[in-house]
Amino acid sequence: MAESKCQYMGNSHMVGSCTKDAVGGKSYCTDHLHIVYQKGTARAKRHKEIRVVNNIRMWENLFNEAVEQLEAEGEFSSVAPVDVDNLTF
Ligand SMILES: [Zn+2]
Repeated sequence: MAESKCQYMGNSHMVGSCTKDAVGGKSYCTDHLHIVYQKGTARAKRHKEIRVVNNIRMWENLFNEAVEQLEAEGEFSSVAPVDVDNLTF
């Protein structure tokens, strides 16, 4: 396999693309591989946060349904409000 060059297209500190050799069959050199990797994990983290928010909403709905049911049965007269900000998973 021929040595390929880093595909990183630069940032505010660079003019043009990187001219170093890419490593390990990747498209980037050692300097830029971790930058590209960090961008990827930041995206994954955002998706995870969105998923957690959806889980909280679902949990909240289930809780409210359960409360309504208990209230209808007269078993649960006073209910603490759901504190969404302090839920832990
Ligand atoms: Zn590079």
